Amino acid sequence: MKKYHLNTNCLHAGYSPENGGPRVLPVYQSTTFRYESSEQMARLFDLDESGYFYTRLQNPTNDAVAAKIAVLEGGVGAVLTSSGQAASFYSIFNIASAGDHIIASSALYGGTYNLFSVTMKKLGFDFTFVSPDISAAELNSLFKHNTKAVFAESLSNPSLVVLDIERFADCAHAHGVPLIVDNTFPTPVNCRPFEFGADIVTHSTTKYMDGHATSVGGAIVDSGNFDWTQNDKFPGLTTPDESYHGITYAERFGKGAYSTKLVSQLMRDLGSVPSPHNSFLLNLGLETLHLRMERHCANALTVAKWLENHDKVSWVNYPGLESGKYYSLAQKYFPNGAGGVVSFGVKGGRAAASAFMDGLKLASIATHVADCRTCVLHPAGTTHRQLTSAQLDECGVPADMLRLSVGLEYAEDIIGDIKQALDKI
Ligand code: PLP
Repeated sequence: MKKYHLNTNCLHAGYSPENGGPRVLPVYQSTTFRYESSEQMARLFDLDESGYFYTRLQNPTNDAVAAKIAVLEGGVGAVLTSSGQAASFYSIFNIASAGDHIIASSALYGGTYNLFSVTMKKLGFDFTFVSPDISAAELNSLFKHNTKAVFAESLSNPSLVVLDIERFADCAHAHGVPLIVDNTFPTPVNCRPFEFGADIVTHSTTKYMDGHATSVGGAIVDSGNFDWTQNDKFPGLTTPDESYHGITYAERFGKGAYSTKLVSQLMRDLGSVPSPHNSFLLNLGLETLHLRMERHCANALTVAKWLENHDKVSWVNYPGLESGKYYSLAQKYFPNGAGGVVSFGVKGGRAAASAFMDGLKLASIATHVADCRTCVLHPAGTTHRQLTSAQLDECGVPADMLRLSVGLEYAEDIIGDIKQALDKI
């Protein structure tokens, strides 16, 4: 098949209508699929033939959207999940189990940190959290015989740390394990983790991919590059699955082993499948992802530069600013732009930050990021409000921090709104 530019793939990958077929990806809102022969149904269950039989496992709308995301990331296959949280969990649970050890960056979305440090810990997983700025030597010293993966965000939420993907990938590979990268904030428009050695990519598609705040969802993409048979760390892929007629996924499905196992084992047993209608909406978002990301980046850079020069603003963090700590990493890993999220502090701490929020007229106060409409959150006054000032500093969320998700409005209107809210504090 001809290789198209990512912008074209945002529109066309994953679905090609047949002659006379619907131009827009149809919503197959059906739980089941009808067959005329029981023998064919049996072959589907044995994975001897591909086809649809139950939407918890596979659905044509979901599959078309997953295929598009796989193309955008440059992977061999992708699986959609009902949320980003499910994607993070499955990405690890597909290759590790109770008693295994995972190394994760500490600069993570709070929900992911909680999933790893509380819920998965209860299930018997052992996590070591590391600074994303850790040196290769220090990182190498933390691997154990039972380490099964390294997990990190390419651009962290909300701290906006840029991951040195190559450094993390090299260390993971030196210890025979994959690097899993949550690429939610940059999206494949701004960052392609597989090109720098990541093996698995996850997404909360709820964010920029959907882009319109309509559907919670997630995705897991496999690069197909990791050799699961290189050691004995991944028996789930390299030894027979007794729950599936003794299939050995790596042997039978080669580069498709990780995704096939994820669908036929985890989706079968745990569910977390998106509704086809949500996938339809996600696809509409993906069709304009390249255009929207360009404008999000341009608007965010304009706003960040403006904030830097305002005397009521104490600090600004945006990886696209030359003054930023992660500017050079951002140039390397996000050549098309550093995304739409900017964080900044206002003079006067927690009280001034709350007053600023209350003064906004255009931007919404919302527990959300990556929406097409500008929204803002004061973490210390909302998601992190139970923490003391010392605790807030410890987790990189200062009391005066505002997280601004810059939308697609006219940049001067966004700035005008911020200006009038700053004028009031
Ligand atoms: N990963 C990142 C970077 C996120 O920002 C989020 C949610 O904010 C998630 C994962 C979880 O995704 P979801 O809310 O779709 O479950």
